Amino acid sequence: MKKIVIIVVISFIILLYLFTLKINITVNSDNVKVFDNYNEDISSCLEDIFGFCLFKLPVNIEGNVDTNVIGNYKITYESKILFKNKKIEKEIKVYDDEPPVITVDKDVIESCPNKNGDITYKAVDNYDNDITDKVTKEVIDNKYVLKVSDSSNNETILEIPIEYKDNEKPTIKLKGSSIVYLKIGEKYNEYGYTAIDNCLGDITNRVKISGNVDSNKAGKYTITYSVSDDLNNKIEVTRTVYVYNKNPDIPVGDKVIYLTFDDGPSSYTNTLLDTLKKYNVKATFFVTSNGSDSTIKRAYQEGHSIGIHSYSHKYNEIYKSEEAFFKDVDKVNNRIKRITGEYSRILRFAGGSSNTVSRFNKGIMSRLSKEVELRGYKYFDWNVSSSDTITNDSNKIANNVIKSLRKGNNVVLQHDTKYGSVKAVEQIIQYGLSHGYVFASLNVTSPTVHHAINN
Ligand SMILES: [Zn+2]
Repeated sequence: MKKIVIIVVISFIILLYLFTLKINITVNSDNVKVFDNYNEDISSCLEDIFGFCLFKLPVNIEGNVDTNVIGNYKITYESKILFKNKKIEKEIKVYDDEPPVITVDKDVIESCPNKNGDITYKAVDNYDNDITDKVTKEVIDNKYVLKVSDSSNNETILEIPIEYKDNEKPTIKLKGSSIVYLKIGEKYNEYGYTAIDNCLGDITNRVKISGNVDSNKAGKYTITYSVSDDLNNKIEVTRTVYVYNKNPDIPVGDKVIYLTFDDGPSSYTNTLLDTLKKYNVKATFFVTSNGSDSTIKRAYQEGHSIGIHSYSHKYNEIYKSEEAFFKDVDKVNNRIKRITGEYSRILRFAGGSSNTVSRFNKGIMSRLSKEVELRGYKYFDWNVSSSDTITNDSNKIANNVIKSLRKGNNVVLQHDTKYGSVKAVEQIIQYGLSHGYVFASLNVTSPTVHHAINN
């Protein structure tokens, strides 16, 4: 009987002990920063009342943590044994606490006083990637304040100082040429201008003009255009206006230009005659077999001198002998007589008296230069070369002539067979008349301009 009691008591104690057994699940884990590794340490035990782990139990996990995506993740852990069951739930946050990064191209923005300058920036976030379009830009106290927040509300503020300055001068662009030639009595009309400033843009209406032109008085006039920006950066440009007198019919003064044209006439000669007429300038044409008779006739009728150059212009033929030379001269002079009604007495040697192409006939130029004078001709070389056989650029040709002009007699060599040279004539005339030169044609009484003989 006593034995039974003991068994019952012991059984009761065992039952009591078994009744106190419980499942204990422990999970060690923390919230995790986005893109970091997620770690959890899980254990589950069947424990007695004294906390003694009797068995380790398997844990069934439901749910997972995606560390690449910000959010809250619920995970359940469950262990079971016999009639016992334990379930715990845990929430893990995948979070972002890293603010975006704003980068700018410059540490200081230099800007016009009336503007804020351009700023180029980029905002990149570790999680949201490029969020440049979310950046707000404000100018506060001479600073650009750039602000941006990522999707987790991490904010970045960047301040870039603005340095206001303007050292650049405006520019003035003249309409029309910066050198203007006006025939006396011709009214000067302002061609206009535009002024542009780097900061202010078009400031044409601020331009001040000074200087005036008395178009009834020959001379050089300067018109000055000036403009300033807001920081007193000033620019000044000038236009020169030459008012010239009409070319006189008879040369006066000690600055004379004799324009001479060899090798023609040509299809350009009529244009040239138009230009000469416009300025009342008389020139000299040393003609050949080229061109039409009517052109020579027109030149003659308009008061230009017609001179002998060469009929064939073939050096190896005309410088073969004195006889051959004068035969060629007669041929071209007959042409002149037929057209103009008179023989010419002025002459220019093909290649000039200084030519060396005739050296195949030793001494021919020395002999011819004397012989032509004995036969009543006056020959002319030149002392101003246009180099129109080297270039066809009319500006260059005009400059070649203009830079060589000097006081006294200027005999200019050009060819009316060259279009560029014909085109250059107007510039040469305008320059000459504006700078005190008069233009005249050559005749037997004109001053002698001879080269040194080289053969
Ligand atoms: Zn020639």
